[in-house]
Amino acid sequence: MPSDIKGLVDVDGEWHRGAVRGPVTLPGKTIGILGGGQLGRMFAIAARRMGYRVHALDPAPDCPTGQVADVEWSAAYDDIGTAVKFAAAVDVVTFEFENIPYETLQAVAEIVPVFPAPLVLDTTRHRLREKTFLSTHGYPVAPFRPVASVDELRAAVAVLGLPCILKTATFGYDGKGQTRINSLDDVDDAWHRLGQPLGVLEGFVAFSCELSVIVARGRNGAISTFDVAENVHEHHILDLTVVPARVPEATKKNAIDVAKSVAKGLDLIGVLAVELFLVDDGTPAGKLVVNELAPRPHNSGHFSIDACATSQFEQQLRAVCGLPLGDVTLFRPVAMANLLGEHWHSADVGGEPRFDQALAISGVKLHLYGKTEPRPGRKMGHLTATADDVETARALVLQARDALTPTDRRRRD
Ligand code: AMP
Repeated sequence: MPSDIKGLVDVDGEWHRGAVRGPVTLPGKTIGILGGGQLGRMFAIAARRMGYRVHALDPAPDCPTGQVADVEWSAAYDDIGTAVKFAAAVDVVTFEFENIPYETLQAVAEIVPVFPAPLVLDTTRHRLREKTFLSTHGYPVAPFRPVASVDELRAAVAVLGLPCILKTATFGYDGKGQTRINSLDDVDDAWHRLGQPLGVLEGFVAFSCELSVIVARGRNGAISTFDVAENVHEHHILDLTVVPARVPEATKKNAIDVAKSVAKGLDLIGVLAVELFLVDDGTPAGKLVVNELAPRPHNSGHFSIDACATSQFEQQLRAVCGLPLGDVTLFRPVAMANLLGEHWHSADVGGEPRFDQALAISGVKLHLYGKTEPRPGRKMGHLTATADDVETARALVLQARDALTPTDRRRRD
């Protein structure tokens, strides 16, 4: 690969050697997406812009992806009969949701190529398999123990120490299925709340900040990473992302190296988010601990739509279709703030949030996901702001989010 193509990185010369696996899926063909949330919606918008047709499958009719897809299939994820018909109607399949049953993905993969491969999803959606994959491949993770009973939990707490975090092995995202254990008195209650036969107890990581890297790997082995994002979570849900991350260059390089290496280790074709904790260990770059992997575009990569030459969704499309990966240059520093259901609840009585006020701020963009019911904690949309520096972008996006709500109704927590 010529070294002057920005954003595309040759890994072990694969660009030269690697043949594109499977036929290229050119614009005009039909992409199937399993899962109908906002990630699928933004993917479908990118795909339709490039002339693809999109079919979306989700249990809920009028889902965020279905609203912008050519064809919406409404069926339960374990309805293999419908999934097979869906597969027969499209040229390639990807997913935006991790909890698609493995049997469904396998049935689809027998009919049409699925990227990332079902095995990648099977590894990353199960916290124990994911952590085992990471630790056996030498990536640092928080100390962890599988726990299958309250007695095992008590024993694991004794080993890992307090505080610690009990997480479900499956169906965990956005802090769902997580309980922090601060004292031995919390153990019974934490086990009860798990509500699943298997959990993973994690040692608490005293991080100085949270980072993420969105990495894409094409069908020919080419790898590309977006700029490292710095993330702030509230109540275990992403609240704010700023890019570039305000950490030393050596830290960014290490984060990017980890992300590329994990993508390669998984033999990923598609997009993968690698969430990391940065821990101050006295070295200038600090120590990185991998928290979580998601083999799809990620909330912390939404900045790429407004601030990069190629968005994470177009990159997913390019990767799964066997097209060359796009240029990921960051045009401007950017900040992204999530809009959760509570921003609606606290908005003016009977009215929508004051989007007009937010959009009056220069550099601010609004993304809404087409969800009608603003439940607390539900991701309804996001705002981004670009500026000449990251501090200004951050201040602008927070100002814009505040502007949605009349002063007397702003949340104080
Ligand atoms: P997760 O759903 O695992 O991505 O966790 C959501 C958020 O909870 C993370 O981004 C952290 O802010 C926090 N968290 C999760 N696991 C740990 C841990 N082992 N130590 C400290 N904070 C954690």
